[in-house]
Amino acid sequence: MKKDYSIRTIDSVGRIVIPMDLRKALDIHEWDELRIYRDHDHIIVEKNNPVCIFCGSGKDLIFYKEKYVCKKCLKGIQAEKK
Ligand SMILES: [Zn+2]
Repeated sequence: MKKDYSIRTIDSVGRIVIPMDLRKALDIHEWDELRIYRDHDHIIVEKNNPVCIFCGSGKDLIFYKEKYVCKKCLKGIQAEKK
């Protein structure tokens, strides 16, 4: 029976290595961003696929003041200000 987990040791500064087979399966590469958060007593680690805060699109994003906005929505905002 194949195990579906692995046990890793946290190093002295809190890092762990994500197993290669998981990185390959989830298409995670060097310097990709990961989102890490707590769900009760679990630590969730997932690929950071940012989306526009207004329309939910993942295309043509600009990161501004800790939020992602797509160019289309940014254009809409600029048009309303005129
Ligand atoms: Zn948008």
